[in-house]
Amino acid sequence: MLTREQLEALKVKLLEEKQKLLERYKKKEDTQARIEEEVKEPGDLEDIGQMTYTQELLDTLSAREFFIIKEIDHALNKMQAGTYGICEYCGEEIPYERLLAIPWTRYHAHCAEKAEEEGIVPTYPAISFEATIPEEMEIQREDITEA
Ligand SMILES: [Zn+2]
Repeated sequence: MLTREQLEALKVKLLEEKQKLLERYKKKEDTQARIEEEVKEPGDLEDIGQMTYTQELLDTLSAREFFIIKEIDHALNKMQAGTYGICEYCGEEIPYERLLAIPWTRYHAHCAEKAEEEGIVPTYPAISFEATIPEEMEIQREDITEA
C-alpha cells in the first residue's frame, strides 16, 4: 500500500507535470502563430517545405503531450476514487519506484507490454511507455512535497 505521504508526493508530481505540459503547449501555440504569420509572406519553395516539416513536428509533439495530459487526469481521477497505484491489467499494486518514474502509468512494466500486445492499452502510436519519462524529471523532490 502507498502511504499518505507517497500518495501526496505523487499527486504533486502529477500536477506539476501537467502544469509543465500545459505551459509547453502554450509556448508551442505561440510558435505556431508565428509560423502562420510567415506563411502569409511565403519565400521560395524550399522555405515552404521547411515550414511544413516544422508544422508536422509541432502537431506530433502536441498529440503526445495531449496524450500524457489525458493520462495524468486519469491518474488524478483514480486517486480520488482510491484506485490509484493498482495495475489496470493484473489488479496488483504497482511498485512506488515505477510510479515515481511514471506517475501516470496504469500498468506494471511487464503488464504494459502484455496490454500493448493485446491492444487494450490506451497508447499514443509510436511512443512507448518508457519513452514517456521526461528526461529532466528528478526523483528527489523534497522541496515540493511541502507545497
Ligand atoms: Zn500488472
